[in-house]
Formats: sequence, C-alpha cells, structure tokens
Amino acid sequence: MRTSTLARPLVVVAAALALSAGALPGSAAPPDTAPDVGDGAELDGRGGPGGPGGHPGPGGPHPGRPPAKVPVAVGSGGAVSTVDPDATRVGLDVLRRGGNAVDAAVAAAATLGVTEPYSAGIGGGGFLVVYDAASGTVQTVDGRETAPAAMGADAFVEDGVAIPFEEAVTSGLSVGVPGTPATWQAALDAWGTLSLRDALAGATRVAERGFVVDRTFAEQTAQNADRFADFPSTAALFLPRGAVPRVGSVLRNPDLARTYRLLARDGVDALYTGRLAQEIVDTAQTPPVAPGSVRVVRPGLLETADLAAYDVVHREPTHVGYRGLDVYGMAPPSSGGSTVGEALNILETVDLGALDETQSLHHYIEAASLAFADRNRWVGDPAFVDVPLDELLSDGFAAERACLIDPAAALPKPVAPGSPDGTYGDCPPGADPGDGSPEGTSTTHLTTADRWGNVVAYTLTIESTGGSGIVVPGRGFLLNNELTDFNFTDTQNGADPNLPGPGKRPRSSMAPTIVLQDGRPLLALGSPGGSTIITTVLQTLVNRVDLGMRLDEAVAAPRATPRNGTSIQAEPDFPRTGLEALGHVFADNPEIGAATAIELLDRGKLLSVAEPERRGGGSAGVVRPGR
Ligand code: GLU
Repeated sequence: MRTSTLARPLVVVAAALALSAGALPGSAAPPDTAPDVGDGAELDGRGGPGGPGGHPGPGGPHPGRPPAKVPVAVGSGGAVSTVDPDATRVGLDVLRRGGNAVDAAVAAAATLGVTEPYSAGIGGGGFLVVYDAASGTVQTVDGRETAPAAMGADAFVEDGVAIPFEEAVTSGLSVGVPGTPATWQAALDAWGTLSLRDALAGATRVAERGFVVDRTFAEQTAQNADRFADFPSTAALFLPRGAVPRVGSVLRNPDLARTYRLLARDGVDALYTGRLAQEIVDTAQTPPVAPGSVRVVRPGLLETADLAAYDVVHREPTHVGYRGLDVYGMAPPSSGGSTVGEALNILETVDLGALDETQSLHHYIEAASLAFADRNRWVGDPAFVDVPLDELLSDGFAAERACLIDPAAALPKPVAPGSPDGTYGDCPPGADPGDGSPEGTSTTHLTTADRWGNVVAYTLTIESTGGSGIVVPGRGFLLNNELTDFNFTDTQNGADPNLPGPGKRPRSSMAPTIVLQDGRPLLALGSPGGSTIITTVLQTLVNRVDLGMRLDEAVAAPRATPRNGTSIQAEPDFPRTGLEALGHVFADNPEIGAATAIELLDRGKLLSVAEPERRGGGSAGVVRPGR
C-alpha cells in the first residue's frame, strides 16, 4: 500500500459541541415504550477460550441464546449502531475508554469482520464518510476494491457472451484488491486517536473467544453451504464438522484472530506487500477448490503488484442542499451520493409534506427512477470516465428532470437518462435506458458518534453474501467478489461508464450519508442492499425530513425500491393501492435493506437506531443511556 497522500496528522478533538436538531419536526426521542438501554455492556466478558463449533471454554461466550438486540437507544456520551450486538458493544467500549467516533467505527467494523463475515471483512472494501468536528467539515475515504492491472473491458466475456453471473460470483476472477484494511488505517491516521493495534483489540478477542451464532448467521451459512463446501478452507471455518452451525452454538475464528494480530504488529502493509499479499494472490489465481468438486471456478488476474499499488482515495463528498439541510454523501465511484442527491434535488421542487401519501410516494418513486436512469448512464470510476457530477447534482438539471413527473400517471419505465450538460430548459426527448448489472444484497452499514461531535457513516462489503465464497487458507477471511459490480457487457449503447478496466473501481451503490443542519451534524445513516441501498437511504431521509416521522419510525417504515425497472420491488406493508391506480407496477420483496442511523437531538442527546426486524434486527447503543 502506498502512503495516503492526504492523510492528516492525528486529530484529538477536545471541545464538546452543543448539538441541536430543534428546527426539524419530529426531532425527539421515541416514547418510553422504546427501550432506552442498549449499551450491551452486560454482554461482555462471559466465559473463556472456547473450542471451535460450539465448544465453549473459560473466557468466551457460552452456547445459548444469541445476545439480545436493541433497535433503539437514547442517551449521551456517544453512540454506535450496527447490525450486530458484539460489534456495537466493541464500538461502545472504545468510546467509553475515550476513543472517538472514528476509532469506534474501525473497532466495530473489525468486529463485523468476525461476526458478519459474509458481509464485511478485510477481504473487501467500502466507503467511510466522517464529520470531523475539529475542522467542521465532512470528508470521505474511498476504500473501494480495484480491478487488477490485467483486467480488460471484456474480462467477463467468453466467446462473445457474458459469463453466467453466478459463475462470476464464485470465482477468483471477481476478486478485487481489498480496500478495507487500508481504509481503517487511513481513517485512524486522519481522524482517529487509536493505533490500529488498539482498534483491532476488541475484534481480535471476539474472533478468539467466539460469538454465539444467531438465526441470520445460520441462515446465511445455509444459503451458501453448497459453494462453501467446495472450498476446504471455507468449509473448515463456516461448516464445522461439515454442517451449518446451530443457532446458539459458539463459532470461533482463531485464524482471523492471528491475522488481526499480524496487522496489529506489522501494519496493513502485511496485507498489501507482505506474505499475506502473496497468499491472497495465490488464492485468487488458483482458487483452492475441493478435490472432486465439479464447480466451474475461474481463476483470478490479481498480481502482488496490484496489492502493492493499492491506495485509498480521500474524496470530496457529494453535497446537496435539501429543505435547508446539507446532505453529504459518497462521490463516484459510488453512485450513492450522486443518485440520492439528484433524487433529493428533484423532490425539492415540490412540497412533499403538503401532498397526500399517494402523491408523496409517487414523487419519491419517479424521482428515484429518473436519478437511476442518470446513474446508469453517467456514473463510473472518475479515474476512467468523465462523470458530470456537478451537473448531475445541479438544481437546473433536477428541474429539467422534475418536469417529466406527471402527478396523474406513472412514467413508462424504464425512463431514459437525461443530459446533464449545463443547458436546461424544456423536458428533453428520451434516449436509451437500461442497466444490466445484477447486484447482491449483502454488505453492512454502521454509524457512530462521539461526545466531541464527530460522526461516522461507514458502509463496507465483500459484495455478495459470502463474497466469492473463498476463504484465504489459514487466514480466516473471505475474499470479495466486488468486480461483479462492473457491467459485464455494454448497457449504454457504447457509452457504458461501468465496464471493467485495469486498476478501475467498479461502480458502487453504497451511500453512507451525513446530514448537517446549520453546519452541525443532524443525521448519519446508511444501509446494505446493492442498488437498493440508494432508495433505502433516500426513503429514510424523505420519511424523516418530509413526512414527519421520528428516525426510528423512518427506518422501520415499509420500503419500496424504485430503480427504473418495469416493476418496483416493495415490502408487503408498503401502501400500493393508490400508486397502482397511477400505473405503478409492484413486485414483492419481503425485506429491503438493513439500515443503521444516528440522530443528534437537543442538549447533546443522541438517538441511535437500527432495524427492529429486517435481517433479524440490528443493535443500537449509546454510552450513557437516558433521556
Ligand atoms: N457491491 C455493492 C455495492 O457496492 C454492495 C453489495 C450489497 O449491498 O449487496 O453497491
């Protein structure tokens, strides 16, 4: 890994900020029916070193019920919200010991690498957005995986046709250079107070002692069991004694504990230039398939030089004003910030709060659809394609796009992309739409805030649930399949911004978002879910800002994910009737996204929010519970 060019010296934030969200309707703690605890402290320190696959020992967790999850917490002193109680507990421990929001985010993310290994880990990448209270600015780290230097535009094409998507998922070919370890180091260098060693300590303990398998983990293992069984290194870890671990059993990952200790001792260079780099390359180039397996597993193109050349990019965040708030997101190669931002700009042309439910959701659907058409046409890795980001986020472009929305009827889908060319007037004639890129539903999002006013929104992934399915032998982590986020063939009539390329970063939908009010943090949020991430973040913002819901209500509300397809996936309770009368067509999706979020309330209070139900519910916590 090369040294980050924009890394700043250690920042220790001393002054507490008085934060207020008073002007936004619904800025309140939930009523007392919502649990006001959730710090998870009672989960710590049970047992001793356990054996693999459900054999506990002294010092580790005992088999039994998985730790309780609390989806809403109110209090002060700092907050963490993740999908997982162990990760939230480790993040809160860091805050209690004086670490800041960035330290807590890295510690929690490293723990998710243990307890949510099918969604996150050092074999993957992600995007981190931070509000740095010392400078009063929002900044970002792009830790997206990169394609190998040997990867050409036709890497996923054989005999003139795209290879089957599922075959690309479970392959060495789809493995990009991991960005997550470098992201952790860059974030700690720029804003943290802990060394990487200290930030990894809690996660290393969880890997060593084990964690109690919950239903979500068992289900995700079962979904992957066939392909995991084809890789002995993966089966040994995730299919102990050849079977899906039982709910309530304890799963340890001593290999990952050792890998974390290696990173703690030698720094992340151990992964980018050390022996681990060679092992990652060997694993991707020659996937360790079980003898006798009939699975087609294509070899990867990764070389050690690709890992050595990796660096994160400190990018300017995207920014739009929305109803007096400032919304910051992730710039390309993620399409998260540009697509959420464009849709918000389109929505700002109407007063959503004054519309009835059907009309406000109709506008949400149409704005998201229009923004998706533009995402597909215009957004890719800015090092390779000229992304007209300023124009995509301009009010003039939004007004031109908004004029296509008919309150009386749904636009025929897919809608065509617009022309973000700086010249805006009447509604333009259509062009060719479409996005052929399938995306996974994996990934994880975490949100942290500290007593000094720093806030982090961090989304990280290994792409599919279970990534490539390939564990680096003896190292305890899965390699990503992020390069399947490229379009395999041109979807845009010769202008596809998201074809593979050497050293290119595939377009993402990850949308870690921070909202400021009067220059101070109000909200931080994000979600997993492939391209549904964008609509989950957008809909949660609309619910909170326009529709008067509290943050916990905004997260829990039924979702629909309009992405400019011929039908709109929607959860069962999403109100469809009035929208169907306008011509919208729905398809069922039992569950969309798995958001976490934090709101900064009046008088230094924090509202930490996770999912009450989706993906088995998330885990919200605060340092000092209390209203
Ligand atoms: N790879 C996806 C992206 O970057 C995220 C994967 C997911 O959430 O399913 O947009």
